[in-house]
Amino acid sequence: DNSELATALIRLEGYSYGYYKDLVGEWPMPNGEWKIFIDRVQSDPYAPPSQIRLRVNMAAAKIPHDLWSTSLRSTACCDYITRHFHRTLNDDGLTKAQRGGGWSGSKGGDVQISNPGQQVLQRSCMFICPEYIEARCTLALPARGRTIEGYKAAEIIGNLWPLVRSSLYHDRLDQSALKKHVDSVDDQGWLRDKLDELGLVAFVRDGAILPRRSGVDDRPLMKTNGGSDVVAFKSPSSLSVAVDLPHEGRLEGMGIRKGVTLIVGGGFHGKSTLLEALQLGVYNHIPGDGREFVVTDLNAMKIRAEDGRYINNVDISPFISHLPLGRDTTQFSTEDASGSTSQAANIMEALEVGATTFLIDEDTSATNFMIRDGRMQQLVSADKEPITPFLWRVRTLCERAGVSTIMVIGGSGDYFHVADTVIMMDQYVPYDVTKRAKEIAAADDVHLTIPEVDENIFSGLRGRCVDPYSLQADGKVQSKSLRCISYGWTEIELTNVEQLVETGQARAIADAIQTLAEKDYTRGRRLSDVLDRFYEEVHRHAYPTGRGDEYKTGLDAVQRARYPAGYYSYPRKLELAAAIK
Ligand code: ADP
Ligand code: MG
Repeated sequence: DNSELATALIRLEGYSYGYYKDLVGEWPMPNGEWKIFIDRVQSDPYAPPSQIRLRVNMAAAKIPHDLWSTSLRSTACCDYITRHFHRTLNDDGLTKAQRGGGWSGSKGGDVQISNPGQQVLQRSCMFICPEYIEARCTLALPARGRTIEGYKAAEIIGNLWPLVRSSLYHDRLDQSALKKHVDSVDDQGWLRDKLDELGLVAFVRDGAILPRRSGVDDRPLMKTNGGSDVVAFKSPSSLSVAVDLPHEGRLEGMGIRKGVTLIVGGGFHGKSTLLEALQLGVYNHIPGDGREFVVTDLNAMKIRAEDGRYINNVDISPFISHLPLGRDTTQFSTEDASGSTSQAANIMEALEVGATTFLIDEDTSATNFMIRDGRMQQLVSADKEPITPFLWRVRTLCERAGVSTIMVIGGSGDYFHVADTVIMMDQYVPYDVTKRAKEIAAADDVHLTIPEVDENIFSGLRGRCVDPYSLQADGKVQSKSLRCISYGWTEIELTNVEQLVETGQARAIADAIQTLAEKDYTRGRRLSDVLDRFYEEVHRHAYPTGRGDEYKTGLDAVQRARYPAGYYSYPRKLELAAAIK
């Protein structure tokens, strides 16, 4: 029994490619339980693929309400189903583009959906609301040369049913794995919300597996290079915290308290690995990742040096002042920043948009920004050195601006003086060495002197105003990778925005900037206010609201196309701000 859509496709066999455009619209399927929407048709076989949606009535899909009863549970449920859908697509070979020889060979035919990594993010590719569940995919409509292959297209449409049946109907999913997935994510989110009340900025579960297979493979390391086993995380008893999760019950792990925390230890003992896990702890992870329940303050920002970045009108005066030739650093701009200047700008920009924890690794910091030892201070007096090291500001940040810092520092004991907690990594095992570090600092004969500072140095932050004109794209906007957006003539470099994890986030950022350029509330307002306002819109709809075709989700706020596109993943405000600069 052919669907109307299949019949229409067969009728197009042998026509020129442009006739595919006639198919835009809504196509009910014979069993009455689902539909296909063809939202956008590619203009030729080589263009980006066409956009389609596969929608199953909830009366048939029967996904229990409990699995999508809150915004977070709905995100987790969609994440699970997307992974299943993606796996099924690959197993069934539907993603395999068939490439015949040369111009006249058959092209197209593959179906694709976003491919999630290890993090559970809100994404627009899967959508659940009271009336239906919908997968948003791409389909490369098949052709031979520029001629429609109607029979082949009809066959692909026919093959979608087994995919839909096995992925979007609750009875065919692994129900206990799905529930476990949703509950785990729910618990991770609950714990992150609880951190503040517990006086913590981060938590690392006992038993967590932190190292990854490689820089390009984010899955857990199974065996080390030498073939030995990976060391599971175990909290020192003095830092151990127990929590009772709503679903999974009691959980123990290391609590990192608010304040200044140092991670010290010899090279290769696992310091950076811990910090990297913490920086992704702003996201929830899939069960089995090893970093589920490595949970960090939602507004934690990795701060690094970024030589060569441009800086636009940022007040970096708390760190850099009286430059040679009297250049002003309260409104600092440059096309090509140095290591220390870029790191200062990254801090000030993150503060401006609400970062509450900084994560810093010596490996990616500018040395002259981090420290200046006693001997150097004797040689180069403070009034000849424009840079105020982070060491002198880290406590003020904490006490005056309420911003905690977790930093990896293997090379300078000066920080012992200003730390609240010192954790030593030794053979991948953390030890609480705070007491010993404080004794060493107290016994020092060279006393560390931190010059008097104006205690309000961070409280009178001058928020930058947004110039909507500068947000407009003067040309095509494209984000083919996670690391770079081509925004008209401007390249937005995201390589050093380390907490981005999926291409979909870059797409959302690219379209969010264009959307912001058009909002009337953007004009002349402070960047932080504009972003707050924008994220209010995003979060208001984080959980689908409305009726029928009116249902809206948070990511619809960045939507540029006239149809609901499936290629967005949620970016935090901090990453969007980092892209705007
Ligand atoms: P550091 O920053 O202290 O120099 P890294 O965090 O870069 O050390 O870790 C060094 C190496 O050890 C990396 O290759 C990493 O994959 C590996 N590693 C980290 N943690 C563990 C662990 N818990 N078990 C096994 N190997 C680990
Ligand atoms: Mg390191």
